[in-house]
Order: sequence, then C-alpha cells, then structure tokens
Amino acid sequence: MLSSSPSKEKTMAKIVFRDPLNRNTVTEHTVSEWLFSQETPYQQVDVFRTPEFGTVLALGGVINVSERDEIGYHEMLAHVPLFAHPNPRRVLIIGGGDGGTLREVVKHPQVEEAVMVEIDEVVVEQCKKHLPQVASAFDHPKAELIIGDGLAYVNDAPDASFDVILVDSTDPVDAGVVLFTPEFYAACHRVLRADGILVPQSDSIVYQPARVAGVGKMLREQFERVDFYTSIVPTYPGSLWAFAFASKGPHPVEGLDSERISSLDAQLSYYHEDLHRAAFALPKYLRDQLRG
Ligand code: SAM
Repeated sequence: MLSSSPSKEKTMAKIVFRDPLNRNTVTEHTVSEWLFSQETPYQQVDVFRTPEFGTVLALGGVINVSERDEIGYHEMLAHVPLFAHPNPRRVLIIGGGDGGTLREVVKHPQVEEAVMVEIDEVVVEQCKKHLPQVASAFDHPKAELIIGDGLAYVNDAPDASFDVILVDSTDPVDAGVVLFTPEFYAACHRVLRADGILVPQSDSIVYQPARVAGVGKMLREQFERVDFYTSIVPTYPGSLWAFAFASKGPHPVEGLDSERISSLDAQLSYYHEDLHRAAFALPKYLRDQLRG
C-alpha cells in the first residue's frame, strides 16, 4: 500500500506517501480538499479529495481506499472466493472498515450472514460520511458489524462456523501486524468449515514478492491448497495487488458455476468469469517464487 505518516509531507496542495514497509517507494498526489484528519488509538486516519482518484482514505499514512479504483480491490477480494465456494452461507470479514468488501459480499444470494470485525470505529464513521457509495451495506439485513480485534474474534469463535473468511486488513503495521501471523491463520483454519476458503489481502507483488511468499509459507502450514491471484489497484504500490487463496477443499477456478456468476453480472463492474480465471495466471518468475 502507499504510505507515509510520520513522513507524510503536506506541501502546498501535494501529499507525498512513502511506504513504511519499503522506504524507497514514494507516491505523490494532489489534494484538492482535506476532509478529515485524526489520530485514533489505532492509527492516523486521513480523508481527502484528489483530482485523479476522487475521495481517498489513508490509514497510518497509507492509501487504503480510493473512490476511483476501489472496485478492483473489493470485487476481486470478495467474488473470487465466494464464486469458488459451492455454497457460501456464513462469511467473516476481518477489517474492511470502509465497507466495500461487505457491500460486495451481501450481493450473493447464498450468503445468509456477513459478520465484519473492524477494530477502528472512526474508519467506519468517516467512510459512511465521505465514501457513502463504498460504505453502503452496513444497514443491510445480512450484515453484522462488530467493533473489535480480528485475532481476538477468531480465537473466541466456535470451530467450523464460517464458509469464507476475507482478511481486508491494513498492511502488517499497527493493529494489522497480528493478522499476518501463524497464530491468526491457524485460528482461521479452525473456524472455517470443511470446504472453507480464507483470502487475505497479501501485499504488493511488485515491490514485496518475498513478503507475499512469506504469507504463502505460513498459510501452507495450515491449508491443504494455497494459490495466489492479483488485481489492478493503481493507488497501491506497483498497482498490482496480491491475494492469497487458501482453501480446505474448493479449487480456485475448476468448480466455477457460470450461471451463478451471470446472475450477478448486472451488479458487478470489475469482476467477470474470464478475469477470475486469468487472475491466477502469474508471470513465470512470480509463479515460481510463490509456489510452495
Ligand atoms: N483495502 C484496504 C487495503 O488493503 O489497503 C484495506 C482497507 S480496510 C480500511 C483495513 C482495515 O483493517 C482498517 O479499517 C483497520 O482499522 C482494520 N484493522 C487493522 N487491524 C485490525 C485488527 N487487528 N482487527 C480488525 N481490524 C483491523
């Protein structure tokens, strides 16, 4: 993800992001309007408008969501595992305070309940106010929002209680660190049902392939099958973002039901079946590096 704070430099109408996990990556955006800025107990929360990407949410000095490119992240995080799973009835989202992943999950008719565990209430409040088209599903009848720590939630959750878990976390900084650990992945494995799927957002495949591979290594200690797919998110470093697909059973592409996908087509702007299949095809050097 893009970044900076504490090295965020607000000069005139420019904001410079320096990735805290990769200090050489710098991105600059023009700020047309500042909307919100506050240090919460968990992170620095900033919301501002830019000419190119519309309203932007930055956490800990890292761009997390932009109005213009959020669909490439949220639709691919949610629909790849939800369409790969034969019958996703209970879905758990960890993080995801902007509401974009929740908005996508509740579109699936098979989903009966979508539980979202977000640590920082301020993120939810500010996204409802400034990114209402993203934070649009918090009042949906299938949605339940819990304000709390994702690791604590899965540690306390009953065995085999979810079909799909989506980790829509910040990068491994601040409160997000615990969501990139063997302890967390083991708890997710226990909480998933027999054919469950876990998809954690997994860093910049361009700048941090070794860190992405590290996520794969931890997941392979728990899960029967681990693959990686990508999506294009221009406001994230390198523009190409990695997602791990850790499965107790379902294959990432072989069981896709074209009719089920077509039935949701009118509600989707980014995801489609060909893209789902193509997203798992990685350049050779990355495929080799991320292979178990
Ligand atoms: N799309 C985003 C990205 O990859 O940049 C993720 C966005 S979402 C806003 C990330 C959320 O994860 C934040 O709202 C943050 O508060 C939440 N978060 C971080 N650590 C968490 C934890 N331990 N438990 C629950 N939520 C957490």
